[in-house]
Amino acid sequence: MFENLSERLGGILDKLTRRGALTEADVDTALREVRRALLEADVALDVVREFVEGVRKEAVGVAVIKSVTPGQLVVKIVHDQLVRTLGQEESGGVDLNAVPPVAIMMVGLQGSGKTTTTAKIAKRLTERLKKRVLMASLDVRRPAAMEQLAVLGRDVEVDTLPIVAGQQPVQIAKRAMEAARLGNYDVVLLDTAGRITLDEELMQEAADVRSAANPHEVLLVADALTGQDAVNLARSFNERVGITGIVLTRVDGDGRGGAALSMRAVTGKPIKLLGVGERMDALEDFSPGRLADRILG
Ligand code: GDP
Repeated sequence: MFENLSERLGGILDKLTRRGALTEADVDTALREVRRALLEADVALDVVREFVEGVRKEAVGVAVIKSVTPGQLVVKIVHDQLVRTLGQEESGGVDLNAVPPVAIMMVGLQGSGKTTTTAKIAKRLTERLKKRVLMASLDVRRPAAMEQLAVLGRDVEVDTLPIVAGQQPVQIAKRAMEAARLGNYDVVLLDTAGRITLDEELMQEAADVRSAANPHEVLLVADALTGQDAVNLARSFNERVGITGIVLTRVDGDGRGGAALSMRAVTGKPIKLLGVGERMDALEDFSPGRLADRILG
């Protein structure tokens, strides 16, 4: 991931570093390259503008121009600006700071990795934090999706809500919360239905489930390889349903990584976790610093 952006920025900044001195014109040339690299990496245009402006403001400063190693200073400025755009804070993963049972609602398109991520999170909360977790699939249109969650639940040794035919998503969400209260579970993971494309029905259903279950977290699961589409997805879900964080999946793939920058900037919501493979333990905390390092290479 981020190979294009990393190589691109790396190349530009190496050139600057070799030259040693930096004029205002140099800064402008470098910024044009940074801008192009970000656009090529699928970062949204308004995010690129803001990013480049932030770098310019600092880079054109006296310290940079008079510095002996201006290239390195610009690298640092770009790095810091990347961290700011990605969100300063280290992710502590899922926030469970509420009265149990804490509901966590998972939303996203079909195929984004939503069900896999639900099971990964369940496994992590069970093993690392010793939480009692209950998972429930609300995908009433795809019985296979419900069965998939049950299979994964057996795999990671986490309980799933028994499937009752004919129930609607809101009813299932309520039943899950009730079962969690009665069964003294700490966390309920609600795996909502996905669709191939964004549609009104999906949004309304997710909004209704949110109202019924009152989740502490609403996590959007998005495929890092889908670039600009992931950004539009994040914007829509955030406006329509309201999200509290983002899980970016397939970060192990070799796609363009602009989605991470844009999604954070467009929604203002933190990227909390990264999916880095198909295995149940392939889930990482998101760290802006680490990602910025990777982007710069
Ligand atoms: P859903 O339709 O959104 O619930 O998607 P699934 O959870 O069924 O995932 C679709 C496919 O993507 C499955 O084959 C998963 O194993 C795979 N997948 C999910 N997350 C990741 C990830 O982080 N990296 C990779 N390489 N594959 C993933």
